Amino acid sequence: MSMDRRQFLKIAGASTILGIGATAIKGFRQDNVEASEVIPGPDALKAKRWGFVIDMSKFQTDADFARVIHACHSIHNVPDFGNPKDEIKWIWKDDYEHTFPGQEAEYMEAGLKEKPFIVLCNHCDKPPCVRVCPTKATFKRSDGIVMMDMHRCIGCRFCMAACPYGSRSFNFRDPRPFIKEPNPEFPTRTKGVVEKCTFCYERLAKGLKPACVEQSGGGIVFGDLEDPNSEVRQLISKNFTIRRKPELGTQPSIYYVIGGNQNA
Ligand code: SF4
Ligand code: SF4
Repeated sequence: MSMDRRQFLKIAGASTILGIGATAIKGFRQDNVEASEVIPGPDALKAKRWGFVIDMSKFQTDADFARVIHACHSIHNVPDFGNPKDEIKWIWKDDYEHTFPGQEAEYMEAGLKEKPFIVLCNHCDKPPCVRVCPTKATFKRSDGIVMMDMHRCIGCRFCMAACPYGSRSFNFRDPRPFIKEPNPEFPTRTKGVVEKCTFCYERLAKGLKPACVEQSGGGIVFGDLEDPNSEVRQLISKNFTIRRKPELGTQPSIYYVIGGNQNA
């Protein structure tokens, strides 16, 4: 989705105004708020602000992308409806133009614009999706993870309008029959709710790396952006990195190494 700052502020502002009225909505289910209730175990991984550094040089083949996408979608019960109209995606690939609009330079590396990039929710430090959600179904944790509580979601889709990255998907149909091999350890969703990447909060709570990180062959590194000694901070300080749509002020927590450091 391509959107300039003016369009973005317009949508986010309008959604907020509409959202004020919707705060009066009562009756959304509160009986099962599993997303916010995962109790971290003794080995839980912790950070002040989680983030990723994605090194695109490690994504060379279709298989490199497919492995990471499959790892995420299979453990999180992401359905496959088999058509782009109903598509649900937590992590996917997109081209340079849609990933980094406005960041093209006349003399940039030949072929870069044709390359696919791996994209997901940016777990923005200033997430507009959170600001507009009338039921607090989406919220930011103290460690920076932007969560989804599917049981609070009333399907208004304000968050989808406010997210300038297309990181959220809506279940127009019952997703359950379209999950190839359901993972009984992760909740499934219902028709009428929004979903997206939740930074594998359930794995972090058990001391495990996010699934995409584990399958990326070093292409996705995760860690604490607030810790100057963390691997992510070291990578950011040693490489030229870019983030998606920085002009919007959302402060994404996902940094990309897109090349150009080979001769450094
Ligand atoms: S990428 Fe979109 S969904 Fe994710 S935190 Fe930012 S605004 Fe929200
Ligand atoms: S962090 Fe977890 S939920 Fe997010 S894209 Fe990676 S595997 Fe999927």
